[in-house]
Amino acid sequence: MTEKTRFIPDGKAERKHQPIIDYKDAKYLYFPTIDLRCPSGESCVIDGQYVKVGELIGTRHGSFFDQPIYSTVSGKVIGIEKKLHGSGQLVDCMIIENDFKYTLHESCVPRTEQEIDEMTKEEFIEIIEKSGLGGLGGSGFPTFVKFKTDKPIEYIIANGVECEPYIISDYQIMLDKTNRIIQGLTYAMRAMKAPKGLIAVKKKYPELKEAFERELVNFKDYDIKVVPVGNFYPSGWEIATIKSATGIKVPIGKLTAEYGVIVSNVATLYGIYRAIKRRMPITERFFSISGEGIKEPKSFNVKIGTPVIDLVEMCGGFVGDEPKVLISGGPMMGTNLPNEDFIVTKTTTSLIVLNDNPLREDPCIHCASCVYSCPVEIQPITILEAYKQRDKEAIEHLQVNKCIECGLCSYTCPSKIHLTEAMRQSKRFIRK
Ligand code: SF4
Ligand code: SF4
Repeated sequence: MTEKTRFIPDGKAERKHQPIIDYKDAKYLYFPTIDLRCPSGESCVIDGQYVKVGELIGTRHGSFFDQPIYSTVSGKVIGIEKKLHGSGQLVDCMIIENDFKYTLHESCVPRTEQEIDEMTKEEFIEIIEKSGLGGLGGSGFPTFVKFKTDKPIEYIIANGVECEPYIISDYQIMLDKTNRIIQGLTYAMRAMKAPKGLIAVKKKYPELKEAFERELVNFKDYDIKVVPVGNFYPSGWEIATIKSATGIKVPIGKLTAEYGVIVSNVATLYGIYRAIKRRMPITERFFSISGEGIKEPKSFNVKIGTPVIDLVEMCGGFVGDEPKVLISGGPMMGTNLPNEDFIVTKTTTSLIVLNDNPLREDPCIHCASCVYSCPVEIQPITILEAYKQRDKEAIEHLQVNKCIECGLCSYTCPSKIHLTEAMRQSKRFIRK
């Protein structure tokens, strides 16, 4: 009963029509000084200091890049506290007490069209780097690195595929900021001298194609097309999106720029618009709370730094008193969290609350469904066996590093074996 799984229920239908609650009432906002990509960092403000929206308050340091941290509200710095990050880490966070005035920092002055026209590629990349923009689809990969290439670029692809079930952050931003996303795309095309722009959306959401095409009449000087791509999972994976949208096959492990393509998530392109046009970092994001374990699932537009616990309260809390499974991000690639007291960061898309029905793992029945379903064509079950033996050489030989942690192997396994978690652990094991 080998089963190749590519189509999974996406659970977005109800959420799509939910009204968005604009939530700006958080009294205290929290800004992590570190995250998964940047293991060290520090604040550049002192307790009691008054800060404004868009003001630099610290820097995170990664192995090959720094990430500036900006305040998303105006108010007073009141200290540092450990808080749970959406990635599951407990991290130091700077706390700002909101004065609810949202006073903009003096540096946030819009650029004129002429200034943007005269901008060089190097200036564009420097602005994106200083804005601290990272893949807002959840990856957090620094955006400027993708653009730092000497290769000729033919296509910039706006990735609006959002294939992870239950998450609708990108869906909402595509309807809400359609014009701004296209503008961000044109800035990137201009800077990279890319002749073609593509906007990839799922076939099953024709309303997105229509929304973009309505706006594109205002961008007639650019060759930009909307490309509906398949509803399979993981169609939003960069390599799958490029293949669906252009036919170009980028081998796993290669840089897409080597094949003339740069892919940027739609929310990231909106971030590019803000950085280039408005000299503003990203200060808000869409965030949804869903799942059978929450009383009233809701979707929000919130300031980055907002405690999720405030939003859970607005959803009426959890259903019943029994234990819950809390997932930050989607059910396929998300991270399990010990509690709901975490904070919204640039890359936090949602909280899913499920009732705790522990799934018992049964023995492997050697059906090979996990192998046939894996989009990067590795063998999850064989890697799991090698990991159990702590056989580093075999794990490396089986190319666990190709794994994109899409979750399909666990999803498809009839014995409910936690294969994806085993892939994560195997990757960590061979790095030691
Ligand atoms: S989680 Fe990794 S091993 Fe499992 S299907 Fe996805 S890519 Fe393949
Ligand atoms: S791990 Fe699961 S999906 Fe893979 S071969 Fe065994 S039973 Fe089948």
